[in-house]
Parts: sequence; structure tokens; C-alpha cells
Amino acid sequence: MKRKLYLYNTATARKEQFVPQGGDDSGGPVGVYCCGPTVYNYAHIGNLRTYIFEDVLKRALTACGYSVRHVVNITDVGHLVSDADTGEDKMEAGAAREGKSVWDIAAFYTAKFMEDIDALNILQPDLWPKATDHIPQMINHIKTLEEKGFTYRTADGIYFDTAKFPAYCDFAGIDPASLRAGERVDMGDKRNVTDFALWKFSPLDAKRQMEWDSPWGRGFPGWHIECSAMAIEHLAQPLDIHCGGADHVRVHHTNEIAQSEAATGERFANFWLHGEFLVLDKGKMAKSGGNFVTLDTLREQGVSPLGYRMFCYTAHYRSPLKFSYEGAAAAEQGLLKLRKIISSIDKSNGSVNNERVSRALEPFMAALCDDLNMPRAVAALWDGLRDDGLTGAEKIAFAEEADKALGLDLLTPLDGGQSRAEISVEVDGCKILIISDGGISSELKNDIIEKAVLRKKSRAAKDFKTADIIRGQFVDMGVAVKDLPDGTTECMTL
Ligand code: AMP
Ligand code: ZN
Repeated sequence: MKRKLYLYNTATARKEQFVPQGGDDSGGPVGVYCCGPTVYNYAHIGNLRTYIFEDVLKRALTACGYSVRHVVNITDVGHLVSDADTGEDKMEAGAAREGKSVWDIAAFYTAKFMEDIDALNILQPDLWPKATDHIPQMINHIKTLEEKGFTYRTADGIYFDTAKFPAYCDFAGIDPASLRAGERVDMGDKRNVTDFALWKFSPLDAKRQMEWDSPWGRGFPGWHIECSAMAIEHLAQPLDIHCGGADHVRVHHTNEIAQSEAATGERFANFWLHGEFLVLDKGKMAKSGGNFVTLDTLREQGVSPLGYRMFCYTAHYRSPLKFSYEGAAAAEQGLLKLRKIISSIDKSNGSVNNERVSRALEPFMAALCDDLNMPRAVAALWDGLRDDGLTGAEKIAFAEEADKALGLDLLTPLDGGQSRAEISVEVDGCKILIISDGGISSELKNDIIEKAVLRKKSRAAKDFKTADIIRGQFVDMGVAVKDLPDGTTECMTL
């Protein structure tokens, strides 16, 4: 018996009850395809917000009784700097930037991405297919499109003729009248503004590191064809669910649908889910702009990866989320408080009545199954932990069950838990180690650093009176100060 799960489907622009292909009792796993990282740089926390939402989706499907086959691709070739199929390949640009081979860049940033995924407690997908391992499948797909008359050749590649796919504008609700060629888009030899490259020829004047022979000439695949080929290769058609960031609706996913459905003659995916962007005060966070924050940047500010996961739960995945260090630090404190409350519960208090635990979980599950409403689910978690009608043992069972969907490691004991932050800095030759059992605001961090430097300088100048005053101020702030043998000033928030 499956629990009802409602998801907002971009394809129909409404919330619908999720039913897998073949029905609820088909027994097969639910096929979920998620567009994965382009591995030419570190993932920024905006990218990671999208993978957290997709992980919650997978956990919700599991909580509803489905088994899941989850595929996330690795884009290691063909994603050009511009969505209009112009500009450099991001991978080749990354290699030039770092003076390494494209293959080394791909291996390095793929490994870094995997570390981020683990730190965020994101469940491993069943498969991580790499685009460069699927060139024959892409070539075959393009051949089929060619045989069916959907392609044409230009000086720089083989293109998909979107005029031959009348439903092209439907998915993203594009107004065809708004697509006027040549105004802002570099058309090259394209027939229609929306046409896109399936195969690009290697440039004659420059040597690419990644290129392959094809029936049309030496070159490399377009970014969009990669996802279609890998999704069709590894999941049953139609896909049950296809996910990605909201930026993919208009171009990447619209193109995936056109080239997949043109080739197979069948619907490509039943449900499309899109996560809204994490935004900065200054606008969007983009890998290519260098304007990005990584998990390491957060760690340096005392926010753990799971604190960031908690921060993502402060907004619904379909709403933009404005990032601030203060907001992330507050989420870290909230997570720490939850852990403290849970670790203080006496597990040996009373027995577990499963029915009572299920009843207590009901509001949490209802929020989760209402299009993954995590702000409401977290509120329901707090309510359950405060429920005096549950025994200690039942509260632990309740928290364990909720954490299967939340992925916050709520039952990890506090000591050695992930929310302990250590920040090492060196200012004016003074080494300072700040240890905090949770997020620390940048204001408090700067205050600690300023005082520690002043104290060190006062002591060096044998001004012990000032040094003692500062020690007293640290006590008032709830910070314990210790001088370590190597001269580092350790400041621990209590
Ligand atoms: P990329 O590695 O650039 O191909 O992007 C990986 C995923 O992150 C895609 O699903 C994007 O839609 C998503 N993404 C990119 N920027 C953001 C952002 N600022 N907030 C949320 N998701 C994003
Ligand atoms: Zn994709």
C-alpha cells in the first residue's frame, strides 16, 4: 500500500498525485533522472540546493513505499558557455584556466562533487553516468533524428530543426511570437532561433582535447543530447520523474523533450520537477561568474554542510531562497538545538506504541507529501518532539523516522557531531582557532578575532592589565580562551 504523494508537475503547471508508469502496484522502481553537475569547477551552494531538493524527493518516494532507481549524470563535455550553442566548452575553458588536461579537470571536480554530496548526506544515486562514456548512444540518437528528418547541417555542426517539432513551445509556455530571429541571439547559420546543436564540429583552427569521429565529422556532442541519450539508456521510458534547476525549463529541458520525443515518438517523462534558485543579494550565484560560495566557504564561517541543508529547509523548493551567512548560522543553531533536545530524551522512558508514533508522524508526512513542503515538515518535527503524549522511546522512534526523510543526522550524538565548527585564521601574525558547537555569526567571529589579536599584542607589550580586561570580556561573551603550546589562541564558545 503506497502513501499518496502530491508533486508539482512543470509539464501540467499543477500539483498532481504522483503515480508511476504502470500504476502504483507495478512493482518496478520509480525512475528518476536528475541533470548532474558540469565538472569544470567546484559546485556552489546554489547547485547543491538543487541536489538537496532532489534527495528529499527520493527520500519522500521511499517513505511513501516506492523503490527508486535514481540516475544523475556527470556532464564532462559539450556544455558551452552560452545556451545559444556558442562560446567555449566550459570543460576546455576550465582546463585552460588551470593548465591541466580536460580529463584531469573532470576527474578532480567530480571527486570534489562526490565529497560535497557525502557531506550533505545526499543518498548516492544508483548510477552516475558520464557523458564521455555515452558518445555512441548520442551518435545513434542523432542518426535516428536525421533519418526522421529533424536535423540539418551548418558550417559548425548538426542542428535540431525545432520548426519540425510543433509542440516545441508548449512545455515552457514560450510565446512563439517572442522568438524573433537575429535580434539578440547569435543565429549563425541556424534556421530558427530555438534550433540547437546536436553535434558540433571541432574547430579547424584549434585542437580540442575531447573530440570523437562521427558520421558527420570529427567533433563533440551538444549538451542537451547528452541527457536524452543517458536517460533513455539507463531508465525505462517514459521516465517517471525528471528533475533539475528552474533555469533548465526554457532551454535544456525543452530541448531534451523535443529531441527525445522526436526520436522515440513517445512521451519522454511523466513528471518534471524544478528547484528554484538560491540567490544572493547581488543576484544569481553562478559558477562562471566566480561569484560563488562553496561548502568550504561555509565551513570557514562556522556553518556545517548539514547546517546548510537545514537552511535549505527554510524555504519551499519552488521558492527562491535568499542566502545570507546570518540565515545559515541561524539554521546551524536550530540544527544544534534539535540535536541537543533529541540527545537529552530518555530512551528508556516507556515502551513504543507504533500506532502512537505513526499518529505523531502524520503532520510531518502530510507536509512531506504535499509537494515536499519542508518548512512545514520541520515545524511538525518540533511539534512532535514537544508532544507530551509520547514516551521518550516513542519520541526517539518519531525522530528516527522523520530523519529518514530529512537526512539531518539528528540522532548523531553531539560530541563529534558535524555541527562542531573549527575556524583557523591568522591575523597580524596572531594565530587564532575558534571552536564553536554550532554556527557562529560573522559579527561574533570578527569580535573574537579582534579581541584575541589585541590580547596577544598587549601580552607581547607586557601590558597585562589590558590583557586581563580582554580575558574578562571573553568571559562575559561566553568564550573560553586558552593559549596552545604553538602560540595559537584557542577561543571556544560555550
Ligand atoms: P551545472 O553544474 O551548472 O550544470 O548545474 C547543476 C545544477 O544546479 C542544475 O540543475 C542547475 O539548474 C542548478 N543550479 C545552478 N545554479 C543554481 C542556483 N543558483 N540555485 C539553485 N540551483 C542552481
Ligand atoms: Zn540535463
